Amino acid sequence: MKTTEHYDVIIVGGSYSGLAAAMALVRALRNALVIDSGKPCNRETPQSHNFLTQDGKTPEEIADLARQQLVKYSGVKFFKGSADTATRTEKGFEIRTSSGELFSAAKLILEAGIKDMLPNIRDSWNARAFRCFIVPTATDMR
Ligand SMILES: Cc1cc2nc3c(=O)[nH]c(=O)nc-3n(C[C@H](O)[C@H](O)[C@H](O)COP(=O)(O)OP(=O)(O)OC[C@H]3O[C@@H](n4cnc5c(N)ncnc54)[C@H](O)[C@@H]3O)c2cc1C
Repeated sequence: MKTTEHYDVIIVGGSYSGLAAAMALVRALRNALVIDSGKPCNRETPQSHNFLTQDGKTPEEIADLARQQLVKYSGVKFFKGSADTATRTEKGFEIRTSSGELFSAAKLILEAGIKDMLPNIRDSWNARAFRCFIVPTATDMR
């Protein structure tokens, strides 16, 4: 077992929702650990649409910018890996990662996303296939 580090809040999932939660927390002077396994649901998509100020950016560019803005605050730390188990303790929660680290926090936020059950058409995203909420641009429809 590796050392336990204690935080005000542990956030499991470090994509947009987790990063947004971290931003709110560090600005409220809480310290937060973001544990992320690096597999956001939109990782296959080439560019973002219908997200004001981020049109045409890749999902990774958007997340990178969020992380750059977050690290300006001292209260946030990142751990790249997978949260395996969560245990309720007297002081809050303990999270064990799949690589054996143990972290504890008073509060736990789960921002691990949803699992899309997609047909095997990932190569076609934004070229020939669209989710219902994506409005194709003129270029997309050619
Ligand atoms: C193909 C596609 C295209 C899209 N295009 C657009 C678009 O153009 N415009 C738009 O507005 N929206 C778009 N979306 C929707 C948008 O991407 C999602 O709404 C958004 O990514 C959800 O963010 P999230 O943080 O909730 O989840 P996710 O982005 O899925 O992130 C969840 C994170 O949690 C991590 N995680 C999961 N389990 C664990 C664990 N046990 N331990 C540690 N980490 C864990 C994952 O690795 C991941 O990084 C698209 C979605 C898809 C699938």
